[in-house]
Amino acid sequence: MSKGIAAVIGAGPAGFYATEQLLAAGFAVDLYDALPTPFGLVRAGVAPDHPKIKSVTRVYERAAARPGFRFFGGVVLGSDITRVELLERYHAVLYAVGTSSDNRLGVRGEDRPGSVPATEFVAWYNGHPDFADRVFDLTCSRAVVIGNGNVALDVARMLVLDPDELQVTDVADHALTPFRQASVREVVLLGRRGPAQAAFTNPELRELGELARADVVVDPAELELDEHSAAWLASDAASATARRNVELLREYAAREPAGKSHLIELRFLRSPVELIGEDEMGHVSGLRVAVNRLQPDGRGGLRAVASEARELIECGLVVRSIGYRGQPLPGVPFDERRGLIRNRAGRVTGEDGAHLPGEFAVGWIKRGPSGVIGTNKKDAAETVAHVLADAAAGALNQPRSGADAQEIEPWLAARVPGLVTWEGWSAIDAHEQQSGKPHGRPRVKVVRVPEMVAIAEGRVPAQSLSGPLGPAAVG
Ligand code: NAP
Repeated sequence: MSKGIAAVIGAGPAGFYATEQLLAAGFAVDLYDALPTPFGLVRAGVAPDHPKIKSVTRVYERAAARPGFRFFGGVVLGSDITRVELLERYHAVLYAVGTSSDNRLGVRGEDRPGSVPATEFVAWYNGHPDFADRVFDLTCSRAVVIGNGNVALDVARMLVLDPDELQVTDVADHALTPFRQASVREVVLLGRRGPAQAAFTNPELRELGELARADVVVDPAELELDEHSAAWLASDAASATARRNVELLREYAAREPAGKSHLIELRFLRSPVELIGEDEMGHVSGLRVAVNRLQPDGRGGLRAVASEARELIECGLVVRSIGYRGQPLPGVPFDERRGLIRNRAGRVTGEDGAHLPGEFAVGWIKRGPSGVIGTNKKDAAETVAHVLADAAAGALNQPRSGADAQEIEPWLAARVPGLVTWEGWSAIDAHEQQSGKPHGRPRVKVVRVPEMVAIAEGRVPAQSLSGPLGPAAVG
């Protein structure tokens, strides 16, 4: 007998860890996603040349094999179904929708052609259906990637990766040719603070120095630490990650470039002040930056303060990789300042701070876009502990009388024409993997929702497999 039934909204890592833990505790769980496909940023965010990171999906597949699990893909909360309709049917609703939009720089020229948010560029090369028709002009010789996080490293690496290396990954087919034909030879990675404050993790920064066709370049002068950073780095407060990052950067600065065809240059203490172009809305031709210095922020950290000095970096592409931001869900309390669902340790709270019975948040939409995939397991444990405590106290949501778990699937099927279940996703998964096999690729992603739905419903004949050989016929 199940302890109750929960809806988890969003089938990314946080949604899957919460699902696994709820199933283990005796709940039945319906896992929803707006896309017909599960796995969130593992599918649409993790870089194609990082297959090991993607293998975490095996853990999620094991959770999906547990009794009490159902997947409802292609269901958009807010347009296909509402929060109130969920509360009529479930004891607990957990929002695990992630933070899908990008932070804004707030500088002149930010929206010029040739200035793109990393969120969209990453979603495009990873085959997210909403971005499959985007066109990115990679025909310039120099690109600037703004930001010093792991997403910025992913983007910089993708821009210089050998196309033959990319060819054997699950990168979206529509991105293969643009990457192969790209003329970007130089990528400048721009940090607004110093090397000691970079948000890179060590393996990702180390990987930058091991690229087949790109040298990594750092001017030693860029690594001279200001007194505050030097004192911090020498203190117990400094993280091992920051110390190792600075060591790695010093190794790069000491290197003689090997004369590879491409290069990635790291520059620090520079903030964008304006994106330059020919006329008002002309294509980006340069980035004007302020040279910064660091000063204590009064909270134990250091913040960047612009000096009078300005520099111009000529470039034809600017990728803004300065963090993600959450979007509100209709009817769910939202903290506009933080861009997150209003919550206390995972319990959704109203304006007055009181917990809304049966409503919970988990993952990035709960705590912000930080940490690695595994961080979401601990995060989910905190939220699920509250679900279980509320269940024990009889304080979860009460579905309307007569609500029946067996009626949920027919209700959704009638409401959502392209509803995809786990069985449907398994058909898509098998199709993609089969399409990849002849080309030595892990999969060829299907990037059109109607084609995904057709495959899930068994309507695509085997010979029309999509892939580099041609588009699939959707029956
Ligand atoms: P992030 O780690 O938070 O980095 C954001 C960067 O943007 C920081 O360097 C930040 O600088 C900078 N920034 C913010 N506002 C700025 C502005 N107005 N002007 C200039 N720079 C600005 O975010 P992320 O790279 O998007 O990554 C999100 C999370 O996913 C992170 O936890 C990351 O580790 C994780 N991730 C992991 C992997 C992996 O493990 N392989 C891959 C991708 C992403 P300040 O520090 O000065 O604010």
